Amino acid sequence: MARYSDELIDEIRKSNDIVDVISQYVNLKRSGRNFFGLCPFHNEKSPSFSVSPDKQIFHCFGCGVGGNVFHFVSKIENIGFIESLQMLANRANITLPALNNDQDSKTEYLKSRVFEINKIAAQFYHENLYKPTAKIAQEYVKKRKLDNNTLTTFLIGYSGNFDELYKHLKEQGFTEQEILASTLVNKNDRGQFIDRFRQRLMFPIQDERGRVIAFGGRILQDKPAKDALRPVGKYINSSENIVYSKGRHLFGLYAAKKQKIDKILIVEGYMDVISLHQRGITNAVASLGTALTEAQGRLLRRSCEQVILGYDSDGAGQEATMRGLEILKNLGCDVRILQLDVPLSEAIDPDEYILKFGPERLNKCVDNAISLVEYKVKKLKQSLNLEHPNDKIKFLTEIAKELSTIDSDLEKEVYAEKIALDYKISKEAIYAEINKLLYGKKQNDKNQIKKNNQNIE
Ligand SMILES: [Zn+2]
Repeated sequence: MARYSDELIDEIRKSNDIVDVISQYVNLKRSGRNFFGLCPFHNEKSPSFSVSPDKQIFHCFGCGVGGNVFHFVSKIENIGFIESLQMLANRANITLPALNNDQDSKTEYLKSRVFEINKIAAQFYHENLYKPTAKIAQEYVKKRKLDNNTLTTFLIGYSGNFDELYKHLKEQGFTEQEILASTLVNKNDRGQFIDRFRQRLMFPIQDERGRVIAFGGRILQDKPAKDALRPVGKYINSSENIVYSKGRHLFGLYAAKKQKIDKILIVEGYMDVISLHQRGITNAVASLGTALTEAQGRLLRRSCEQVILGYDSDGAGQEATMRGLEILKNLGCDVRILQLDVPLSEAIDPDEYILKFGPERLNKCVDNAISLVEYKVKKLKQSLNLEHPNDKIKFLTEIAKELSTIDSDLEKEVYAEKIALDYKISKEAIYAEINKLLYGKKQNDKNQIKKNNQNIE
């Protein structure tokens, strides 16, 4: 197997401080000579994952994993050693020489061809949008009030008929194997090549470095064609391929990171991102499907500290919010939840909101996004009637449960005060409940220790 020289590997290792690298994934706190955080490789509540800046290694006392910076990156990104090396070289701006391995260089070459195909396809679809045959797409973007600048920035396009893209790519000199590897074209049983995306509004998906890796296509006809064999989805995406795997990218992140950002707003779909960008909210991204994955969470964690979830307030949106919250919290993000200042009954998404009330008011909502604790309390309140003594007791107990999980006393105090004020209950009552829980737990722990000791004796 071909490999890089030891000197080069060493240089890459030295150029990537392990604390810096791991901090992009895990919230680390210094304690003595080492750093500690929650292990990303097993589930835990108290930190047993340690990083040593002196030795440049990590070790988890809980699950036993450990190693150097390459081991960490390949484990967390689920990639091989060579890829982790390439990733870290890239991070440190170190150029790697070509490897003299047949299989490796063949794969690398195919990847570069698929990237090229994606780039050309994006341009092809985009130019298509301005042709007379794309009337249906032009009407749609007009209806959604997208201006020319937006269409160009996001390279929004229109996919044509049957095998137009296939023919175009053949003309550009791509082989059948390369074209099929891009998954933009399928081959049917009769040996015909058919474009995957036909008569759809096209959204190129870019990776962090701005390379087109996949596409999303939105249906434009109200009714599917009569001869459609299967039900047709409103949106379809590229299949996974040599340069694209699902759940590892965020739509709009490349555009968002063109400026320095201190927070990111996650919304549901392509159109939300695009519409918000056009109206000046340029830090919006979409998770491409409602459920946020851990890989996407890590991508966000690497980009900035504060993440605001702005999913729809309907049932599915709320569920997606809860799942996203847990993932981001575990990664050590400062997670907030966007609350649009309209009555709950008026289910509205950020795109509709900005069209109705303008960017300034949406920005205000973004600034006032609430924390995880506040969100949980708010949800709890919705299911209870605080006029009712029983409900009020339940409310108090649940709040205390939530607050007792917060480590920082100062934070606990701030929340207790805010909740007391917001829901008109006394702060003392909240504290009494918290103490009951904390004291009760200690008492239980003591009893357990006693019991354990007796067992040993
Ligand atoms: Zn662990």
